[in-house]
Amino acid sequence: MNCYDCRALQENTVAVAVCGRCGAGLCMDHAHVAPQTVHEAAGTGTYTHTPNARRLTCGVCHEAEV
Ligand SMILES: [Zn+2]
Ligand SMILES: [Zn+2]
Repeated sequence: MNCYDCRALQENTVAVAVCGRCGAGLCMDHAHVAPQTVHEAAGTGTYTHTPNARRLTCGVCHEAEV
Protein backbone atom coordinates (compact mmCIF):
# COMPACT_ATOMS: atom_id res chain seq x y z
CA MET A 1 0.00 0.00 0.00
CA ASN A 2 1.16 3.50 -0.80
CA CYS A 3 0.60 6.78 1.02
CA TYR A 4 -2.71 8.29 -0.04
CA ASP A 5 -1.60 11.88 0.49
CA CYS A 6 1.55 11.30 -1.58
CA ARG A 7 -0.53 9.84 -4.41
CA ALA A 8 -2.50 13.08 -4.47
CA LEU A 9 0.86 14.79 -5.09
CA GLN A 10 1.72 12.37 -7.91
CA GLU A 11 4.27 10.59 -5.72
CA ASN A 12 4.56 6.96 -4.72
CA THR A 13 5.68 6.45 -1.15
CA VAL A 14 5.28 3.22 0.77
CA ALA A 15 2.76 3.60 3.58
CA VAL A 16 4.01 2.83 7.08
CA ALA A 17 0.74 3.56 8.87
CA VAL A 18 -3.01 3.72 8.33
CA CYS A 19 -5.26 6.59 9.34
CA GLY A 20 -7.41 5.40 12.23
CA ARG A 21 -10.35 7.45 11.02
CA CYS A 22 -10.55 7.25 7.23
CA GLY A 23 -8.27 4.27 6.62
CA ALA A 24 -5.91 6.04 4.21
CA GLY A 25 -2.37 4.71 3.93
CA LEU A 26 0.21 7.14 5.31
CA CYS A 27 3.97 7.62 5.01
CA MET A 28 5.98 8.95 7.95
CA ASP A 29 5.72 12.50 6.60
CA HIS A 30 1.93 12.42 6.42
CA ALA A 31 1.12 10.44 9.55
CA HIS A 32 0.06 12.51 12.54
CA VAL A 33 0.56 10.82 15.88
CA ALA A 34 -1.57 11.95 18.79
CA PRO A 35 -1.92 10.42 22.24
CA GLN A 36 -5.34 9.15 23.09
CA THR A 37 -6.52 8.59 26.63
CA VAL A 38 -8.16 5.23 27.05
CA HIS A 39 -11.01 5.04 29.54
CA GLU A 40 -12.39 1.74 30.64
CA ALA A 41 -15.27 1.02 32.94
CA ALA A 42 -13.92 -0.95 35.87
CA GLY A 43 -16.25 -1.95 38.67
CA THR A 44 -17.87 1.16 40.09
CA GLY A 45 -15.43 3.65 38.61
CA THR A 46 -13.51 4.39 35.46
CA TYR A 47 -10.01 3.15 34.99
CA THR A 48 -7.77 5.31 32.84
CA HIS A 49 -4.95 3.49 31.14
CA THR A 50 -1.49 5.01 31.34
CA PRO A 51 0.46 5.73 29.30
CA ASN A 52 -1.90 7.00 26.66
CA ALA A 53 -2.71 4.92 23.64
CA ARG A 54 -1.51 6.00 20.25
CA ARG A 55 -3.71 7.33 17.48
CA LEU A 56 -2.47 7.75 13.93
CA THR A 57 -4.38 10.01 11.58
CA CYS A 58 -3.84 11.59 8.18
CA GLY A 59 -3.53 15.35 7.74
CA VAL A 60 -7.18 15.80 6.80
CA CYS A 61 -8.53 13.89 9.78
CA HIS A 62 -5.98 15.47 12.10
CA GLU A 63 -7.24 18.93 11.15
CA ALA A 64 -10.85 17.82 11.46
CA GLU A 65 -10.33 16.50 14.96
CA VAL A 66 -8.63 19.61 16.36
ZN1 LIG B 1 2.92 10.73 2.24
ZN1 LIG C 1 -7.77 10.21 7.64
